[in-house]
Amino acid sequence: MRALVLEKKLELSVRDIELPTDVGRSDLKIVIHTVGVCGSDVHYYTHGGIGAYIVKAPMVLGHEGAGTVVQVGADVASLRIGDRVCMEPGVPNLASRASKLGIYNVDPAVTFWATPPVHGILTSHVVHPAAFTYTLPDNVSFAEGAMVEPFAIGMQAASRARIVPGDVAAVIGAGPIGIMVALAALSGGCSRVFIADFAQEKLAIAGRYPGITAINIRGETLASAVARHTNGWGADVVFEASGSAKAYKDIFSIVRPGGAVVLIGLPVETAAFDVPGAIAREVRIETVFRYANMFERALNLIASGNVDLKPLITGTFDFEDSIKAFERAAQGLPTDVKLQIRLPQDLG
Ligand SMILES: [Zn+2]
Repeated sequence: MRALVLEKKLELSVRDIELPTDVGRSDLKIVIHTVGVCGSDVHYYTHGGIGAYIVKAPMVLGHEGAGTVVQVGADVASLRIGDRVCMEPGVPNLASRASKLGIYNVDPAVTFWATPPVHGILTSHVVHPAAFTYTLPDNVSFAEGAMVEPFAIGMQAASRARIVPGDVAAVIGAGPIGIMVALAALSGGCSRVFIADFAQEKLAIAGRYPGITAINIRGETLASAVARHTNGWGADVVFEASGSAKAYKDIFSIVRPGGAVVLIGLPVETAAFDVPGAIAREVRIETVFRYANMFERALNLIASGNVDLKPLITGTFDFEDSIKAFERAAQGLPTDVKLQIRLPQDLG
């Protein structure tokens, strides 16, 4: 099968590669339509690894996908040939202790697309369990379907925050995940979401959404902007979505007493934080690792029209130009939020 293969650090090729094709009793075969380029895909390309996950053998990239079901395993009742779907890239062991607790995202046995040594989905078709495949409502496009995966992280963060209607939230970082978090926080009931970054272009994209106030931290700190709006009380929820260790320095000066700080971004280096500052406010600290049970909720919100992710798709490439898409993503243009790759459709 032709695929976009990361041969090793900084070396991509579009070539044939052998991939699993056996459709098990609970599986589907899906022709891939659209795949989003994720920061993690780009990081494997530019660095050859993320933390303990090192690319040691050629690996197909891509994990944010939507497509069409073309074959259905004998035991699958929930989906049919021709269904338009999006897929959850992480598959846990359903008999595991974590899965039984409903926290399958932290099952140590989870396999996740485009995380070494598991291949991703920038190829013509994949085999995937029906249990982790979701029907796209008629008014949700394949491009939007491929946005569900990153949006699910925002949904997980908003859920962890335990938002109460009317809450004021603050998001550190206006990258793709920061914007997803802000949108999920708004649909979760926040009255206003501040989002902070130093890249004006990113802030301009985020600030176009009603309810989101963009703060350029070159001009004013997020803590002082939030304090000004809340009479010095602070934000009910602070989301850390920048992944910068520096963000931890004064994070507890943004949150209100008794509020929550939700950690999403992954700092490369160890981050130190102000424990007395957290204790003095009795801050609740939550962490987010991917998501569990969020895809259907995300699709419901997109289909309802309450969340519009289309403006975040800032470039679409043909599969044959996949390498160009990755080169552009690696540049990290502040005007780009999400680049997508569209695959040729052979449903026969
Ligand atoms: Zn992703």
